[in-house]
Amino acid sequence: MSTVRDVVIIGSGPAGLTAAVYTARANLDPLVIEGEPSSTSDQPGGQLMLTTEVENYPGFVDGIMGPELMGNFRAQAARFGAEYLTAKAARVDFSRRPFGIWVGDPEAPEPTHQARAVIVSTGARSLMLGLPSEARLLGHGVSTCATCDGFFFRGHEIAVVGGGDSAIEEAIFLTKFGEHVTIVHRRKELRASKIMQDRAFRNPKIDFLWDSVVVDVLGETSVAGVRVRNIVTGEETVLPVTGVFVAIGHAPNTDLFRGQLDMDDNGYLRTHDGTRTNVDGVFASGDVQDHVYRQAVTAAGSGCMAAIDAERWLESQHD
Ligand code: NAP
Repeated sequence: MSTVRDVVIIGSGPAGLTAAVYTARANLDPLVIEGEPSSTSDQPGGQLMLTTEVENYPGFVDGIMGPELMGNFRAQAARFGAEYLTAKAARVDFSRRPFGIWVGDPEAPEPTHQARAVIVSTGARSLMLGLPSEARLLGHGVSTCATCDGFFFRGHEIAVVGGGDSAIEEAIFLTKFGEHVTIVHRRKELRASKIMQDRAFRNPKIDFLWDSVVVDVLGETSVAGVRVRNIVTGEETVLPVTGVFVAIGHAPNTDLFRGQLDMDDNGYLRTHDGTRTNVDGVFASGDVQDHVYRQAVTAAGSGCMAAIDAERWLESQHD
């Protein structure tokens, strides 16, 4: 049987790693189950690993690259003794005390890790259009991460799908590589913040296809174009692109907790009185429980709250 930890943190974005800094400094010896490297946003470090320059994280006058910022978070928590496990949690059991967490085989009779308190910071992931051709060509011209894949599209024609800050950020970044970027958006106006909109409108390499949706990604083994439908006229056209970046929002990574933690209709964890979930001793922080703010700084703030809530809750158990 595994030893019992005071705190296990599941997830290693700004929320999980801030919780790690605080719980480590409180001598709670946290273990961070940080996820596995992948090209999606549930990898170690979370969504900021897939972003370029972060200009709105306080304290960095000239901005900082997302992966560098997360590297700093990780090293800072390690400095105080946080331990990392580069793996995904495969199953949790919050009905027992201490709580059980399985890494590896979810059917194993005993959990690989046990904890008196758990902080859930599993974040959110990129949404996809749901087209079979999109899934088939993912990694072969279809991407959700300009930072990871932009380099491969030097001199190419690129489409970005979406109208929020992510889509605009991706499009602007991709103009460094691509010959030309077309933003395909299903409405006539962008959802993105004004400053991002202005930057995109000013960029000579970016143009827009309004009121339009991608209905098919063309190509057998690599992207050869996208078929786009104008939802007002019904007219279909083919955009001759070789790269398609899907940036249409996110969903919380909460499948692991179904049936155990309360969630809203969109799967975001419900918290009360700070970061408490419906299970005493299980706390949630970051994008996994926040569909409103979704910023690195708010995620970090709620990771700090979860650590303090967990610390006080553990203390109360000794009374
Ligand atoms: P978002 O704000 O939810 O925007 C998603 C976009 O995708 C919307 O324009 C939406 O269209 C479109 N969309 C959704 N489903 C679609 C579908 N099935 N087909 C076609 N289009 C679809 O998501 P986000 O851009 O990822 O941003 C999430 C949050 O992070 C926001 O709060 C944003 O401000 C923040 N963020 C900030 C920065 C920054 O400050 N640098 C960078 C990235 C993200 P509709 O507009 O019609 O709904």
